Amino acid sequence: MSEWEKACLRMNRQNEHISIKCRESFDDFMRDIAKRHIGKGDMLSEFVCKKHGVFLAQENICPLCQRESEEQIEKERISALGIPLRFLNESFETFIPHEPAQKSALSFLRDKNKKGNAIISGGFGTGKTHLCFSAVRAYGADYYAAYDLFRGIRLSKDETKIIEHVSNCKLLIIDELGRTKMSVWEMNTLFEIVNNRYNNMIHTIFATNFGKNEFMMPEWEAIIERMSPVFFEFTGKSLRK
Ligand SMILES: [Zn+2]
Repeated sequence: MSEWEKACLRMNRQNEHISIKCRESFDDFMRDIAKRHIGKGDMLSEFVCKKHGVFLAQENICPLCQRESEEQIEKERISALGIPLRFLNESFETFIPHEPAQKSALSFLRDKNKKGNAIISGGFGTGKTHLCFSAVRAYGADYYAAYDLFRGIRLSKDETKIIEHVSNCKLLIIDELGRTKMSVWEMNTLFEIVNNRYNNMIHTIFATNFGKNEFMMPEWEAIIERMSPVFFEFTGKSLRK
């Protein structure tokens, strides 16, 4: 038995009074530490954490406490993003593409350095909003449902402030476009935002139940011209034949 295994056994014995849940994480982290230090000749000492028991490390910083605090910070970051409950646990990792367009849209959105605008089109339940909130979760994209955005601007005392924000945020996602009939004022406002973003060289994603044909209508011409978007059309047809 190596010195390491002996040390681990000793740790386990000394930590018997610690709750099972903590001990399970403890085993995980011992394996992790062993992987990192075995063979390197690192000097490790035994320390005691009030919550997690005896642990082996180079300095008196409990790795489990550290991990818990990182998890807490991540939790707080995500809760500040305002992701609705339905999508709170969804991410790029949980998105399972069923058709080629979904697969391409996933890899397009996942790559935050990818340059370009995009329109994700598809019917209800094809995963558009899941993808949108995955981008919010992954790198804090700004998400608006179209009607919320326009209502927000209309009801705001200082509409230029909102327009300025959505004209400058690093990635803007406007979902539910075409859900309600858009007024001339809304179309003009949308053009203003898209045009500002074009000038600022930052990217915009639309998610919509509109098909490509709707965007060929004259009222969309100027907006689409500014965006020259990649078009992902989710048909709901399965990848598996
Ligand atoms: Zn601890």
